[in-house]
Amino acid sequence: MTSTALPTTADLRTRARTSLERIGATVPDGTDFPARSPITGEELFGLTAATAAGTEDALRATREAFLTWRTTPAPRRGELVRRLGELLRDHKGDLADLITIEAGKIRSEALGEVQEMIDICDFAVGLSRQLYGRTIASERPGHRLAETWHPLGVVGVISAFNFPAAVWSWNTAVALVCGDTVIWKPSELTPLISLACDRLLARAAEEVGAPRDVHRLLLGDRTVGETLVDDPRVALISATGSTRMGREVGPRVAARFGRCLLELGGNNAAVVAPSADLDLAVQGIVFAAAGTAGQRCTTLRRLIVHRDIADTLAARLTAAYARLPIGDPFDEHTLVGPLISPQALDGMQDALARVQAQGGKVLAGGGRRLADAAPRAAYAEPVLVRVDEQTDVVREETFAPILYVLTYDTLDEAIALHNDVPQGLSSSIFTRDQQEAELFLSAEGSDCGIANVNIGTSGAEIGGAFGGEKETGGGRESGSDAWRAYMRPATNTINYSSTLALAQNVSFL
Ligand code: NAD
Repeated sequence: MTSTALPTTADLRTRARTSLERIGATVPDGTDFPARSPITGEELFGLTAATAAGTEDALRATREAFLTWRTTPAPRRGELVRRLGELLRDHKGDLADLITIEAGKIRSEALGEVQEMIDICDFAVGLSRQLYGRTIASERPGHRLAETWHPLGVVGVISAFNFPAAVWSWNTAVALVCGDTVIWKPSELTPLISLACDRLLARAAEEVGAPRDVHRLLLGDRTVGETLVDDPRVALISATGSTRMGREVGPRVAARFGRCLLELGGNNAAVVAPSADLDLAVQGIVFAAAGTAGQRCTTLRRLIVHRDIADTLAARLTAAYARLPIGDPFDEHTLVGPLISPQALDGMQDALARVQAQGGKVLAGGGRRLADAAPRAAYAEPVLVRVDEQTDVVREETFAPILYVLTYDTLDEAIALHNDVPQGLSSSIFTRDQQEAELFLSAEGSDCGIANVNIGTSGAEIGGAFGGEKETGGGRESGSDAWRAYMRPATNTINYSSTLALAQNVSFL
């Protein structure tokens, strides 16, 4: 199914302008680079990129603000994030509009992204009273050993187009309560939503009396990011994006002994066992594989199905894929919006051609839609491909809605296939067999940072740490004790006796 009527670029421009104005952000009128909408593929506004002098000013100002912010008690810092959360609630619809316009997300997913921002603010406010250190038993009489967590410094947040606002909030809400200041370099593909978020945080800071420069936004391409990556005043680089980007950023930050938190690509799989509830599995699989037009880091890209149910499941998925409404993401019936760019469609078609040359059989989808209505946009049918082997193309992340279907005979074989990719972000198993589920979650099961049972690979909630292993970069954000990455621990030994006892019974003097 296709919804043929797309909004015009003029409609989208007006809608974006209205959202920005309601939020209080300046409507851009620069000439350095464009803000486009993937809905029509056309330009909405021109943007001004950060200059070298502007970047230097942001580095200086956020460093200076850090010196004050780090001495503000953490629960007071939480008040800034609480206010931010309230403003996000007030402008949920406006922010979701901007996300749909710039990233092409369907309405419920765009609203979901804003909800996630609200949730992380709530989480971070709670955290502002829970930045606990440990007390450690000392081996020496009259001594106390303790661990204190201190603010780290300026955090550089580099983010990707596909979660253009949530990733910023995961980092910023937590960094701010931890006493850090933030410089944000968003994706050059999604500048409008970043202008809106920056403005809301500035409003919150003004209202609660926080330093103005706790946050700075730097627009532009990767060269702006590279300046942050190389600058020793940036204590932590938190970078979300492709493995290619992480491969460049990681060693550069390491070369200056800076800290890095990397959230990179995934190649996520689900195992479907013979005992699986297939109704539930089909729903979970279709959302995880085709939702967000396959443009989530946690998108389901590989399905590893037991041979006995592979034909049945493939037939049910083929039928479900044929019914997916593709088109205008503002239309409430649409489930699959556009890809971010025609280049993304090229990447998808290239992967499809390669996998077919390697023996893959297309079961459903793969065509282009709305090419006449929007020749500069890229609407693609989510595609299901049956493959006999996990070939090189299957082992890569293609950032588009392609689901490869593989079969297995034993669970050991399924887990081996599952783990035999360079990435390690998200995973799941559909089974009603508890032994199988527990094995999948155990140390000899999934090697991913996220492992689920009877639910797909995407759609994580705030509270659990998010991130993955291997080429996914090893970072964790947005839950559990991920806050520790934004602080530095100091170990304190306090002698409250009147003798100087040395550790390990060393005697001296
Ligand atoms: P991308 O790597 O092209 O760009 C991400 C960001 O990095 C952009 O802001 C870009 O300007 C910047 N950048 C690129 N090269 C850089 C360099 N050498 N130095 C400094 N900055 C640089 O990614 P994208 O296409 O925007 O996003 C899609 C990718 O992001 C996918 O691979 C997806 O899996 C991944 N992703 C991962 C997560 C996660 O949490 N693991 C979340 C969202 C997206």
